[in-house]
Amino acid sequence: MSARTAEGRRADRERRRTCVGCRRVAPPEELVRVARTPDGALAVGAGAPGRGAWFCRASPGCFDRAVRRRALGRALRRELSSDELEVVRARLFGGAEREHGPEDER
Ligand SMILES: [Zn+2]
Repeated sequence: MSARTAEGRRADRERRRTCVGCRRVAPPEELVRVARTPDGALAVGAGAPGRGAWFCRASPGCFDRAVRRRALGRALRRELSSDELEVVRARLFGGAEREHGPEDER
């Protein structure tokens, strides 16, 4: 991570995101993002345009909790169908058949 300049350090402090599932605050590297693009489609990734919601990386439970509490729909200003939720969940966390491996360390 390169935060050598004053500007870099400031940007680093500002690059904090809140998981909408558990409210944990973390740098974007530790989170995954789903966004509602300007045309209303859903996109996954930190660089996707539009209004976004963040979740702890490798933590489908945070996603599920946000869905249950309707926090995701609120964050994206849009209700999501169960089909959409399933697709987004699979894209964020790799789907049911891809369990998280040992690279999931701090
Ligand atoms: Zn979380």
